[in-house]
Amino acid sequence: MKKITMKTPIVEIDGDEMTRVLWKMIKDTLILPYVDLKTEYYDLGLENREKTKDQITIDSANAIKRFGVGVKCATITPNVQRMDEYNLSTMWKSPNGTIRAALDGTVFRAPIVAKGLKVFIPTWTEPIVIARHAYGDVYSGVEALVPQKGKVEFILPNGDKHTIFDFKSSGIVQAMHNTNESIYSFARSCMNYALDVKTDLWFSTKDTISKIYDGRFKEIFQIVYDNEYKEKFEKAGISYFYTLIDDAVARIVRGNGGVIWACKNYDGDVMSDMIASAFGSLAMMTSVLVSPDGKYEYEAAHGTVTRHYYRYLKGEDTSTNPMATIFAWTGALRKRAELDSLPELASFADRLEKASLETIESGVMTKDLVSLYQGQAKGVNSQEFLTAIAERMNG
Ligand code: NAP
Ligand code: MG
Repeated sequence: MKKITMKTPIVEIDGDEMTRVLWKMIKDTLILPYVDLKTEYYDLGLENREKTKDQITIDSANAIKRFGVGVKCATITPNVQRMDEYNLSTMWKSPNGTIRAALDGTVFRAPIVAKGLKVFIPTWTEPIVIARHAYGDVYSGVEALVPQKGKVEFILPNGDKHTIFDFKSSGIVQAMHNTNESIYSFARSCMNYALDVKTDLWFSTKDTISKIYDGRFKEIFQIVYDNEYKEKFEKAGISYFYTLIDDAVARIVRGNGGVIWACKNYDGDVMSDMIASAFGSLAMMTSVLVSPDGKYEYEAAHGTVTRHYYRYLKGEDTSTNPMATIFAWTGALRKRAELDSLPELASFADRLEKASLETIESGVMTKDLVSLYQGQAKGVNSQEFLTAIAERMNG
C-alpha cells in the first residue's frame, strides 16, 4: 500500500506516563502504516523539561507559531510529590499554560459522541463545545477581608475614584479586571474556530447586571463579528448569537447541542465540567487551542492517567481509552491537510475517526466505557482496541 504523503510537518509534542505509552501505540498501529508522517518532534516528557530547564516547552510553542498546527500528548504538571518522584530542580510550570500564553489562545473542549454510549441529557445528540476565556476575572482577582468600618474605593489612572462600598462594619471585598486586548483575542479565536468546524457560535454574559464589565465583552464580540467575520459566517451558513447567561443555560438544556458556547472565565470553568460529565467520560473529550491568528494545537482533555501507568509499570494489563488522543491526531492531520490542500490526508483523518467510532458502536471498547454502553459490550485492553480499529480501516 502506498503511504499518503505530507508537505509541511506537524509539531508533535510528546508527554508523560500512560498517555506517552498510548502515543506510541497509536502512531504505530493507526498512523505510520498509512501516512508518510512528517513531524517536528518535541519531547515534553518531564525528564526532558528538567534537562532543558523547560526551554523545550517554549521551543514547542514557537514551532506551533511557525508551522501553524501541533498535536500534544498529556503532560505532568509538577506538584510537590512530582518534585521528589522526578528529582526536579524546580516546580516547572504547566506546559499547557506556557503554550496557551505564548499563542494567546483559547481552549475549546469538544466531546466525542458515539452512538450507543449513554448521554446523561438524552436530547444532546450533537456535541456542545465550550470555549472558555482563560484570562482574568476572578482568577486573577484581588480580594481582602475588610476588618472594620470604612469606605473602600478604587482609583483609576486618571484619578477618578469609585466607591465600592461604605462599610458600616467588617466584610469582604474583591476586585477583578480584564483587558480589551485579551477580549479581542478571545472573540477572534472563537470566530475562527466556529468557521473552522462550521458550527453556530453562542456567547453569553450577564450584561444586564454588569453593564460596563460584561457589557464590554458583549460589545467587543459584536465589533469583531460585524467588522471581520459577518460575511464569512454568512458564506459558511453559520450564525453568531449573543444572549444572557441565564437564557443560554435554559436553551442548552432543551436543545440538541451542535453549538460552540463561548463563556467568560468562571462560566467556562463551571460549564465545561457539566458538559463533560453529561457526555459521559473525560476520556471522550478532546481539546483544541486556537490562537486569534489561526494557529491550532490539538490534544486530549484528560491527563496522563497516572493510576493506569503505575499498573502498566508493574506489568499489569491496562485498558486506557485512546479515543481523545486519536482524535487529537486526526484533528491535526485534517487541519494540515486543509492548509496544504491534501485531500487524501483529510479523507484519511475522516476514515480513522469513523473506524474508531464504529468500533465502539459495534460493542468493542476500553473498560471505562463498558458501563455507559447500552447493549452487549466487550471490554478490551488499549492495544486490542487499537488493533480492532486498524482491522476496520483495512477491511
Ligand atoms: P487524569 O490523568 O485525567 O486521570 C484521572 C482519572 O480519570 C484516571 O485515573 C482514570 O480513572 C480516568 N481517566 C482519565 N483519562 C482516561 C482514559 N483515557 N482512559 C481511561 N480512564 C481515564 O487526571 P489526574 O490523575 O488528575 O492527573 C494525572 C496527571 O496528568 C497529573 O500529573 C496532571 O498534572 C496531568 N494532567 C495533564 C493534563 C494535560 O496535559 N492536558 C490535563 C490534566 C491533568 P480510573 O483510574 O478510575 O480508571
Ligand atoms: Mg473546573
